[in-house]
Amino acid sequence: MSTYAIVGAGLAGAKAAQTLREEGFTGEIVLIGAEQERPYERPPLSKGYLQGSTEVAKVYVHEPGWYAEHDVRLLLGVAATAVDPEAHTVHLDSGERQPYDKLLIATGATPRPLPVDGADLEGVHYLRTLADSQALRAAFAHQGNVVVIGGGWIGLETAAAARQAGCAVTIVEPEPTPLHRTFGPAVGEIFAELHRRHGVEVLLGVSVARLEGAGHVRHVITSDGRSLPADDVVVGIGAAPNVELARGAGLEVADGIVVDASLRTSHPDIYAAGDVAEAMNPLLGRPIRVEHWANALNGGPAAARAMLGRDVVYDRVPYFFTDQYELGMEFSGDITGHDRVVYRGPVESLEFVAFWLRENRVLAGMNVNVWDVTDDIQALVRAGRAGTAVDPARLTDPGVPLGDLLPGPA
Ligand SMILES: Cc1cc2nc3c(=O)[nH]c(=O)nc-3n(C[C@H](O)[C@H](O)[C@H](O)COP(=O)(O)OP(=O)(O)OC[C@H]3O[C@@H](n4cnc5c(N)ncnc54)[C@H](O)[C@@H]3O)c2cc1C
Repeated sequence: MSTYAIVGAGLAGAKAAQTLREEGFTGEIVLIGAEQERPYERPPLSKGYLQGSTEVAKVYVHEPGWYAEHDVRLLLGVAATAVDPEAHTVHLDSGERQPYDKLLIATGATPRPLPVDGADLEGVHYLRTLADSQALRAAFAHQGNVVVIGGGWIGLETAAAARQAGCAVTIVEPEPTPLHRTFGPAVGEIFAELHRRHGVEVLLGVSVARLEGAGHVRHVITSDGRSLPADDVVVGIGAAPNVELARGAGLEVADGIVVDASLRTSHPDIYAAGDVAEAMNPLLGRPIRVEHWANALNGGPAAARAMLGRDVVYDRVPYFFTDQYELGMEFSGDITGHDRVVYRGPVESLEFVAFWLRENRVLAGMNVNVWDVTDDIQALVRAGRAGTAVDPARLTDPGVPLGDLLPGPA
């Protein structure tokens, strides 16, 4: 009987195990997770769960009994320490060795530590795990001064949750706008303005010089000499992929574990998916590492099918969603190389779709409080990547259904 091992019991790993069974794999499945929790989804940790509106039972990928019912051996609180590709073995920190025929590495990412003096003071938080979210929720309940370092997704969502809990919130972001690299200046500014409207102080073009306090953090000192009072600090300055196992095993590693379009690594029996994988995306024509929920949700199953020898071409349009205050949005595509941003609908009323174009080809689209358009936006992105241009006047006219802009059957 063959054994398929999965290291990393997050969303990608759990969905891969599920797909193996759904696709009829009858061999042994071992799912190895360093955390004590069974696999769970992280988006609620900075939204509903952090705000107390989503109960914990809702964050898990499967019911507790699912693993036994599907004959998936779930090892929790066990970390893989090494992979020996020649011996087809995973070494575990329990001292055991887990043999495998095929292996999926889905080890996710770890928040980047804040590289300044005082970063180890009490009251300095990171947000990746359920326990991190619980700690933050307890901290926000004191309604004190919260300084959020980093105006990326984690920073913005956490700032919104802190504000809604009644804290005084300051965001410190070194770029000229939040989400600058993801969206560029104009759309990044929409997010800055949203937070300002909700009473957040948004400091842009400013970085953090050091944190001060005796035992517990008390002040954040910025690069321009400000001293911001802080009862709690949230660090959201990005995450680094957990590539150590792959590196130790001699697999090719660049920004993440390098995989081809079937999510196979440089070793034929080892695959990688989720946040840790840098996958060749045929649609974009280049490798990309995507740190988003949908990529773990779909990448885990794609890797599982590839492990079973199915033909897999993982060419999904990168997709992301967020909820902050009254703003709900979905983003599809990749803005790299755009020459223009156009809007469909009024930006001020937070009900619009933004499109990033290059020579009138759609590279990406973001729907804000406009729903059920993601399929059309993704089809426009696919058409754009295939070289089809659209008429920007029709694209930005809310009276023209997006579907009418799609190329007809050849
Ligand atoms: C707070 C938060 C909010 C988010 N919100 C959104 C959102 O709104 N929209 C969106 O699209 N995306 C969001 N994301 C991103 C999304 O959650 C991730 O892309 C997704 O969790 C990646 O899943 P994964 O399975 O690849 O990795 P992970 O979920 O990180 O799971 C990897 C698991 O592997 C374990 N592991 C690591 N090394 C080892 C080892 N050596 N041995 C055993 N186990 C190991 C880790 O402990 C972890 O449990 C959010 C992320 C966070 C942290």
